[in-house]
Amino acid sequence: MSKHIQAIRGMHDILPERIGIWHRIEDTARAVLASYGYAEIRTPLVEVTELFKRSIGEVTDIVEKEMYSFPDRNGDSLSLRPECTASCVRAAIERGLLAQPQRLWYRGPMFRYERPQRGRYRQFHQIGVEAFGLAGPDIDLEVILLTARLWRRLGLSGFRLELNSLGDPTERQVYRERLVVYLQRHLDQLDADSQRRLVSNPLRVLDSKHPETQRIVADAPSLLDCLGIETRTHFEHIRAGLDEAGVAYQINPRLVRGLDYYNRTVFEWITDALGAQGTVCAGGRYDGLVEQLGGRATPAVGCAMGLERLVELMEQGGFTPASTLDAYLVAVGEPAQAAAPMLAERLRDALPTLRLVVHCGGGSFKSQFKKADKSGARFALILGSEELARERIGLKHLREDAEQSELSLAELADFLDANLAHA
Ligand code: ATP
Ligand code: MG
Repeated sequence: MSKHIQAIRGMHDILPERIGIWHRIEDTARAVLASYGYAEIRTPLVEVTELFKRSIGEVTDIVEKEMYSFPDRNGDSLSLRPECTASCVRAAIERGLLAQPQRLWYRGPMFRYERPQRGRYRQFHQIGVEAFGLAGPDIDLEVILLTARLWRRLGLSGFRLELNSLGDPTERQVYRERLVVYLQRHLDQLDADSQRRLVSNPLRVLDSKHPETQRIVADAPSLLDCLGIETRTHFEHIRAGLDEAGVAYQINPRLVRGLDYYNRTVFEWITDALGAQGTVCAGGRYDGLVEQLGGRATPAVGCAMGLERLVELMEQGGFTPASTLDAYLVAVGEPAQAAAPMLAERLRDALPTLRLVVHCGGGSFKSQFKKADKSGARFALILGSEELARERIGLKHLREDAEQSELSLAELADFLDANLAHA
């Protein structure tokens, strides 16, 4: 026998039994984002590798070791997208979307060659937003508030909002020099990656997950001390807005984020309920990126949330998706079996939102009924030769005690209409 082919490590099937949670998250996000005037954009899963190198940064985990890059048949280097901000910026420039402010959102799979573990996969899914052309703190605030609203709508609580300002490039340069002086004094205590980054990208040392390095970093000078008045004011406006909205946050001066393109605001929503991979959403401002990728200088802010982590939280919270079926049509005997599909078509004509399965493949009443029960449907519709002769359909409640009844097609349509779980 040939060996079964298996899915790629770290890439998962999302099975029907769990899809209800995904739909709940996606539908809720879509509704919340629409309520803020964000429009969905869909970009290709594959882009030229250069796009990610130039945006995310050469000296980042993603570009150094996590990208799925491969030569196209013509020799161009392509990559599966590891995130979608770069793609959105590319599309916005290429399609001329930046003449006026844009509020965009996206969803879909991202790919990173990481060590698979709980909350960390090689194909994972994000929903993210990107707002272009707005420089003021009001839009940073909006992005944070809409994520807070989404958590509320999903019934998720207990998230911690961490906030920091990375300053503007000149302020960061001043800080960078201070940081390097400090870290050089502790060079031999840093992990190898951090030692290397001390030269190439010292701020990323703050982001290190290495315990020894984290100890050194805890006493490093703070970026917030290097901010000028404009950056400070911008940051204070966001803080004041969060206070007014009643959204609690903590300032974390070590929060630098894993991508190079951020400036000023950065934030993360973190939970303790997921073990080591507790960040469910992360984002910030990236005013330099559009220009860096060849567009006209355009301020921008955005964030992305990891859907697998949200799904796990919803499951932990006991969220059980409603049944996906209203009714299961049981048809016993040749004539009833032959009539069943057309009966179902007429019901669907009358009730466009009805979710109805027609039993296929025949079998005894008992065996069909078992399947009806297992299907999760609320009602079994029963068509046998007697019902057929009387032009009526049997109706049985599968989830509650109630008399079985017999209805005409019109009566049945009325009954189902009044009893559908959804609008
Ligand atoms: P980390 O420091 O944990 O690697 P990151 O900075 O790489 O996170 P982002 O690129 O900002 O993460 O992605 C935003 C969100 O997407 C994360 O907060 C997380 O919820 C989710 N995410 C990122 N990488 C993965 C992954 N490999 N598997 C599942 N979810 C992920
Ligand atoms: Mg990462």
